[in-house]
Amino acid sequence: MIGLVFLFAVGSAQSIKFAVNKTDAEWKKQLSPEAYEVTRQEGTEAAYSGAYWDNHKKGIYVCACCGQELFTSDTKFDSGTGWPSFWQPINKKAVLEQADNSFGMDRTKVTCSRCGAHLGHVFNDGPKPTGLRYCMNSVALRFIPAK
Ligand code: FE
Repeated sequence: MIGLVFLFAVGSAQSIKFAVNKTDAEWKKQLSPEAYEVTRQEGTEAAYSGAYWDNHKKGIYVCACCGQELFTSDTKFDSGTGWPSFWQPINKKAVLEQADNSFGMDRTKVTCSRCGAHLGHVFNDGPKPTGLRYCMNSVALRFIPAK
């Protein structure tokens, strides 16, 4: 049953037309197995396993798949979850937010608006000023340090 729900969720995400639109085989070739699993198969990296949950440097986080700018270090905070967390994307158009009822949970998934990469989820228990917690997978992001 869970498998069926998962397939349906993936199918509906792929029905959206993105500016960067590659085949599954092309993404597989371009990405590491971990990045492919998270961004194209809606996976989740293990907590505290990624490169960025404890990154405190100044800079910009871009999409690991297409390079679109997604978050800045100015809105990053220590959530204690083991995943890089932000209270706001770099702008409203950078990400798509969709209901995600997979695995019996009522969550909102966050996707790169340019290529459809699954990035993570957003929750309502974040800090001020937004009260939001964008809980991202490190492997779905690439950090570009400020000069
Ligand atoms: Fe992208």
